[in-house]
Amino acid sequence: SASSAELPVLGRDVRVPVLSGELPYAALDYAASAPALQRVWDDVAAYLPYYGSVHRGAGYLSQLSTELFEASRATVAAFLGCRDGDQVVFTRSTTDSLNLLAAVLPAGTRVFVFETEHHAALLPWERRPDVTVTYLDAPRSPREAVGVLEAALATRGDDGPALVCVTGASNVTGEVWPVRELAAAAHRHGARIALDAAQLAPHRPVSVTDLGVDWVAFSGHKLYAPFGAGVLAGRADWLTEAEPYLAGGGASRTVARRAGGGIDVAWHTSAARHEAGSPNVVGAHAIASACKALTEAGFGALVAREERLLGRLREGLAAIPAVTVLSLFGEDSDRVGVLSFTVAGQDSSAFARELSARYGIGVRDGLFCAHPLVRTLLGTDRDEPAGCHEPADGVPAGSPLHAIRVSFGAGTPEEHIERFLTAV
Ligand code: PMP
Repeated sequence: SASSAELPVLGRDVRVPVLSGELPYAALDYAASAPALQRVWDDVAAYLPYYGSVHRGAGYLSQLSTELFEASRATVAAFLGCRDGDQVVFTRSTTDSLNLLAAVLPAGTRVFVFETEHHAALLPWERRPDVTVTYLDAPRSPREAVGVLEAALATRGDDGPALVCVTGASNVTGEVWPVRELAAAAHRHGARIALDAAQLAPHRPVSVTDLGVDWVAFSGHKLYAPFGAGVLAGRADWLTEAEPYLAGGGASRTVARRAGGGIDVAWHTSAARHEAGSPNVVGAHAIASACKALTEAGFGALVAREERLLGRLREGLAAIPAVTVLSLFGEDSDRVGVLSFTVAGQDSSAFARELSARYGIGVRDGLFCAHPLVRTLLGTDRDEPAGCHEPADGVPAGSPLHAIRVSFGAGTPEEHIERFLTAV
């Protein structure tokens, strides 16, 4: 029902100072970090008195925390439609998850990544000197994305390990990528595929089985849970064959002095292999709570509500001639509740600050950690050195060097969208 899609979030009563006094805060920066669900707060608060160290103590509360941590893993596995044998590793964030995946790639892996990716999906692979990375040009339609990938994979010419990493939904344009088709293309060429679902998972169902991807990564703080926890889920083999991401307690099964010097270590082969140290049980529990809440509300109802708000937002912006909405795939592309735009003759940074100072609206401006993509969309020099936050020398006044992003989701009232349109 429409009402179950409301999913109450925290912070709705927060009032912020504006030039004329005070206003209720309009959080329109969900793509950076979404407010936590009331349900997540309730579940975390109910657990905190029972807080104990996971996998370590014999005491009752330690046992309880360990059970809760492992139950959270099972909830996330179900939420992501994991296959038998898949692993769910709790990480710190999407960035951490993709760096973990980069760390476990077999030597010699060829990585294929679109230049349009968020830096978290664009950069980790370069850090492996024994891995080669191919950057793919920005496609101008979902169909072209599949074609560009197919063509690049066709040149591979060997059957060594290969990985494609793609976003599910852009953190800049909100546009949804053809993940299922890209996964099929990757597999046709013997490559594996990882999905950066940081922006897709809060808005659409993400099932590794249905999409046919090998791994999926997302962050708790964009999925209505707090900061500090994320997930990498998917095929176990590369994760189990590689050295642990961090060395330490929890990842090691047995450690013994070797006769004649040195240390022998047997590492766990479960997800614990990459979770050394005391795990973030509160973060894992919060993510699991959010997964349950989203599943119970139903993505059908959530998507219907979000599309209504997005339709109103797009229609409102289209009626303002100075506004240009950024799009890679064109007008009719499928989008989640994330949209970036520029305003003719306006500095995006100053504009975003005005939205806050006068109207109590929180948006983001800049290049959104996706510099190559935003430069492509803005048509600015891709080698522009200072385009992130400062206007560079020689750039005409009023040139959009960066954009403004508005993003929303569960719990966003229509009033926030209306206030935003009035303000713009
Ligand atoms: N990928 C995408 C598509 C994102 O939007 C973000 C966050 N902006 C990330 C990865 C990185 O997420 P985190 O900052 O939580 O590591």
